[in-house]
Amino acid sequence: MTDAEVDLFVIGAGSGGTRAARIAASYGAKVMVAEEFRVGGTCVIRGCIPKKLFVYASRFRDEFEDAEGFGWKIEKTSFDWPTLVAGKEKEITRLSGIYGVHMTRAGAEIVESRAVIEDAHTVRLLKDGRCIRAKYILIATGGGPVLEPKIPGLEHTITSNEIFDLPVFPQRLLIVGGGYIAVEFASVFTRLGASVTQVLRGENVLRGFDDDLRTNLAVALRGADVDLRTGILPTRIEKTNKGLDVHLSDGSCIEADQVLIATGRRPNTKDLGLEKVGVELNKKGAVVVDSHSKTSVDNIYAVGDVTDRINLTPVAVREGHAFADTIFGGRPTAVNHVNVPSAVFTTPEIGTVGLSEQEARNIFDCVDIYLAHFRPLKATLSGREEKVLMKIIVDGTTDQVLGIHVLGHDAGEMAQLVAIPVRMGCKKADFDATMALHPTAAEELVTMRTRAARYERTAAERA
Ligand code: NDP
Repeated sequence: MTDAEVDLFVIGAGSGGTRAARIAASYGAKVMVAEEFRVGGTCVIRGCIPKKLFVYASRFRDEFEDAEGFGWKIEKTSFDWPTLVAGKEKEITRLSGIYGVHMTRAGAEIVESRAVIEDAHTVRLLKDGRCIRAKYILIATGGGPVLEPKIPGLEHTITSNEIFDLPVFPQRLLIVGGGYIAVEFASVFTRLGASVTQVLRGENVLRGFDDDLRTNLAVALRGADVDLRTGILPTRIEKTNKGLDVHLSDGSCIEADQVLIATGRRPNTKDLGLEKVGVELNKKGAVVVDSHSKTSVDNIYAVGDVTDRINLTPVAVREGHAFADTIFGGRPTAVNHVNVPSAVFTTPEIGTVGLSEQEARNIFDCVDIYLAHFRPLKATLSGREEKVLMKIIVDGTTDQVLGIHVLGHDAGEMAQLVAIPVRMGCKKADFDATMALHPTAAEELVTMRTRAARYERTAAERA
């Protein structure tokens, strides 16, 4: 027996789900959205937005220090963690409300409940047991942090889900991992005044990013007093009356107030009824979809992190929108996942689009590298040991720009803008022909005339 009938049932009100629901409803579809936690999902509640607010908070420390070189006398500063947590909570609550209003204004109904799939056209709401019959089902359940490596004492650790709301500021923070989340929180918490140790299994942070960015970010993290230790992992964590004793694989032991596990995220596909209905999952547990986000079941679609394509908010939003256009707007739309810009909000920040040097050299016969590494103007008076790195990767045969990588102040803002010409297939000559805007850091992107390196594959390598 069914309790209601809808055209679209969306499971998960995060970035992808809310966009799909709103657009589908605006096309006249009858839409119901189920959310078991808070409307807004990872990005709004415990991801991008609170993280960026914490990044802003952390950067005041550098500003206070830098101000002296410009003539300011800053007597004494202090940081109040509860004020930041409360301010963050207020803002994400506001945003969550706006997401809800946008959906309901468009005509979608939101239910606060976990939802599971019973069959290809039926969803059950666990809160009240109602069964909803749906023409289409959209899985937009996102992902969640993994707790790896499996070591004794993991129950004493936290993840990015908890760190935003810790009742007490962690004076001694140990971070496990070297990815986006680990480096961002290392950068934030060291500036907020914590003593931060970061351990990772690899030889450097941010695997997959351009090597020059990785090396220079590691230098900057260490320069900001992060005790960055590579090739090391915790083996055991014990609770003591002073906090946590973290035993490491090199035989040392570190005392910490909190241990943040940031060793990746996994798609939320467990206990949703997906296997029962025949939705195919890959080895990582992500929903397998085609270019239009359709799963192996004809009327069931999936968007966002649950599909583990590119796990970024704007990508999920695009996928959700494209799904609604395809199914309810009469405009079949596939999302292009190439040249998606991304930023890592460390200090200094990373902004990047396109191929890294290594990726380009693996694909193209001739790759040109343009590199600028300079002290930003502000650092001359502030005295801060700071360098900006800019790198342009060019196809040496066609002159097409393949990738742009920036480490420095406002790198994310730059990456968003240069993503447009890179997506359009611009040439290095277009950068050269563009007038510089002086004095900015970004002007270096159009004034790099001298090639730093050219890599050509030999005939044998091409074969
Ligand atoms: P990442 O995949 O970026 O990094 C995971 C880290 O954990 C790597 O250093 C990895 O090491 C390590 N690791 C993985 N498994 C283990 C294990 N079993 N034992 C020890 N170490 C392990 O994951 P994050 O959690 O940092 O971020 C998840 C995703 O969230 C990102 O990929 C990104 O898509 C998104 N995100 C985006 C942000 C942004 O846009 N600014 C910010 C935060 C998150 P190794 O490199 O050796 O594999």
